[in-house]
Amino acid sequence: MKEHWQKTLCQQLAGDCLPNEPLAALTTWKVGGCAELLVRPRHEQDLSLLAEVIRDHELPWWVLGGGSNVLISERGVAGIVIQMSGFDAITSLAENRLRVGAGCSLARLVRYGVEHGQQGLEALAGVPGTVGGAIVGNAGAGGQEIGERVENVSVWTPSQREAFQCWSRQECRFAYRHSALSSDHVVVAATLKLLPADAVEMRQRMEQALAHRRQAHAVGGPNAGSVFKNPPAGQAWKLIDQCGLRGMKVGNAQVSPQHANFIINTGGATAEEIYQLIHDVQSTVARHTGVVLEPEVRMIGSFGEEHEI
Ligand SMILES: Cc1cc2nc3c(=O)[nH]c(=O)nc-3n(C[C@H](O)[C@H](O)[C@H](O)COP(=O)(O)OP(=O)(O)OC[C@H]3O[C@@H](n4cnc5c(N)ncnc54)[C@H](O)[C@@H]3O)c2cc1C
Repeated sequence: MKEHWQKTLCQQLAGDCLPNEPLAALTTWKVGGCAELLVRPRHEQDLSLLAEVIRDHELPWWVLGGGSNVLISERGVAGIVIQMSGFDAITSLAENRLRVGAGCSLARLVRYGVEHGQQGLEALAGVPGTVGGAIVGNAGAGGQEIGERVENVSVWTPSQREAFQCWSRQECRFAYRHSALSSDHVVVAATLKLLPADAVEMRQRMEQALAHRRQAHAVGGPNAGSVFKNPPAGQAWKLIDQCGLRGMKVGNAQVSPQHANFIINTGGATAEEIYQLIHDVQSTVARHTGVVLEPEVRMIGSFGEEHEI
């Protein structure tokens, strides 16, 4: 049966179709197992074929963007892992609006806006990942969030027969590192509304953001940025620091000595070691301060039930 659906996809998809593909190199933590099948659809017909196969065989599926906010289990990911890298075009529309594909890197989008004298995303310079991942998690930095710039999002829901929909910004319900887009939805593209601005000034702001990041994020190893969201009152790094957890290790995973809300892979860490460390930090902070930190990174695959985060 398995061979049958894999064969159908690999024969008929225009994009890449890679059975048993290692995912670690596609993440910023550089850990994790294989995808049963990794696909990179190239156009809407590919998406329709994928949806048909997913529905007919009731297959699990998951979307991987730039891998900068995920922890993938060493046991790998069952079913189909979809990368939207083939959907990466940027088109200028009237009145400082841009249409951008989900697979476009956020870095390229930010640069495009700056070069065209458009304001609204320049503070996000240096945030890794794709536009799709940024929209789903409402990525933000330096007082800007991508959700503020979204006019609408093209959403593909493989499980539904009416699979393609257009969501307004209101329907996306953006909040701090959150949107209403769930694991049932795939961002295909979005229309963003930027503001007219001076290109030289925008370039300066972008350079400042990049310089700040080079200094603040020099944490000494592969990482996934902030592991925990900031709680409603206070900052996650301060609570972690207050509990004396800076530098704490599980195997080759370590709470960064430079930035207490980052966990680094010091070399050869496993996803399970990182998971265990996230769990230990979360439970220690809860015990000492009463605050249960919510992970910002998303856990993919199974990690054992004894230490649920
Ligand atoms: C050094 C470093 C610094 C960082 N700094 C910041 C920061 O300042 N601000 C900030 O907000 N984040 C920051 N991050 C976190 C991360 O870069 C962002 O969350 C980013 O937007 C994730 O995008 P991605 O494409 O890598 O998503 P992934 O990590 O691949 O995926 C994240 C989630 O989004 C989903 N997803 C991805 N693409 C799609 C799609 N097309 N459709 C539907 N779902 C999708 C995935 O299924 C997953 O659930 C940082 C990370 C690192 C490593």
